[in-house]
Amino acid sequence: MGHDGEIDAFPCCARMGDALRDEDEMIIWTAKFREIGIRVPDGGDSVVVIQFCPWCGSRFPETLRNEWFNELERRNIDPCGSGVPPEFLDERWYAGQVESHRLSG
Ligand SMILES: [Zn+2]
Repeated sequence: MGHDGEIDAFPCCARMGDALRDEDEMIIWTAKFREIGIRVPDGGDSVVVIQFCPWCGSRFPETLRNEWFNELERRNIDPCGSGVPPEFLDERWYAGQVESHRLSG
């Protein structure tokens, strides 16, 4: 556990780990946004973002969805275009840098 109940590591528990490995599960981890959500069975790819683990109750880190778009805008990259760098398609773009920004800011 972190200082305010936020998880230090992900997945937070074995049950969540199992859920993320199983593609038939309802739980979706969106690495680039650092979001965990529940799949909406509407035939599309809709996801309801959740902030707590349904099994162990851990609080997930805050979503980086806004930061993701801001960072691409800062680099003049169209987030809907084909020019999005590969590190922005998963957690690499924020690994190490966002947390240190936040801690020092
Ligand atoms: Zn958990």
